[in-house]
Amino acid sequence: MKLFTVFGNPIAHSKSPILHNYVLYKLKIDARYTRYLLDSSKNFRELFFSLGLSGANITLPYKEDIANICDEICGIAQKIGAVNTIIKKDNKIIGYNTDAIGFYKNIEDRNIKNALVIGAGGSSKAIAMILRENNINVMVSNRSKKNLAFFDAKGFETCINDEIPESTKKREFDIIINATSSSINDTLPLQKDDLESLFERSKIAFDLMYGKKCIFLESAKTKGLDTIDGSKMLLYQAIPALSIFTNIDESAIKPHMEYIYKIINPNN
Ligand code: NDP
Repeated sequence: MKLFTVFGNPIAHSKSPILHNYVLYKLKIDARYTRYLLDSSKNFRELFFSLGLSGANITLPYKEDIANICDEICGIAQKIGAVNTIIKKDNKIIGYNTDAIGFYKNIEDRNIKNALVIGAGGSSKAIAMILRENNINVMVSNRSKKNLAFFDAKGFETCINDEIPESTKKREFDIIINATSSSINDTLPLQKDDLESLFERSKIAFDLMYGKKCIFLESAKTKGLDTIDGSKMLLYQAIPALSIFTNIDESAIKPHMEYIYKIINPNN
């Protein structure tokens, strides 16, 4: 039997085991998917091999640490420098990033030309890169300067949350994406006035969080924006991840994954 898991901290909230185990069962694959509370990425290689895993998903806050541990990185993950999916191949760890496509699937049929991404962590990098690959103009704002260096080096327009230029506050962003963990703590990622000013001119607000009421999206709704939470991103990143784990085409995985997603997200 093959074993998969999702590593993260915290991890108890993760719905990945439900999604993956249901599809593994439906496709009659002899495999199980668990969750693993990872206290530190130190000695991760040894841990990964000692657990006898064939593959794993990586979540907050380890996506960049594990990318640095991989023997090989494939596809868009090379540009992002963060992985959310790894497999064991010939005693090597191979890393992928399916967050980028998981995010983009939510908005691919919308007419988006420019975006503001708030946050500069692993998921922000994935989002900024896939938006740019699809010719969407991206500005990135973050709480602290340090993590903006990645975006500056790649030529993205950046600013610090508390120093957003007046001209930027008046810009029309088609979509504003909260790629921070602020909503977990029921706080806004930007100062309330700045955010409201930006929402005045925007069309869509996206928050990566899922599973609970979100103060960022509630605030956007009061300004008349369309809102999208992170639940479908979870679904759309899981489909290619399971395809990488099993070598089964995404088209065979998708209907089962969508079915179980609907069961656990009856309102979406
Ligand atoms: P990281 O830890 O890599 O980055 C977090 C970022 O958020 C940092 O830039 C940090 O700023 C910023 N930040 C944290 N708290 C606040 C706050 N209170 N106000 C403003 N900025 C803040 O996390 P990830 O990028 O991996 O994940 C971000 C969020 O997205 C998580 O909540 C995660 O669960 C969610 N997520 C959801 C997915 C889905 O499928 N729906 C997929 C991936 C992620 P600084 O640089 O200053 O520390």
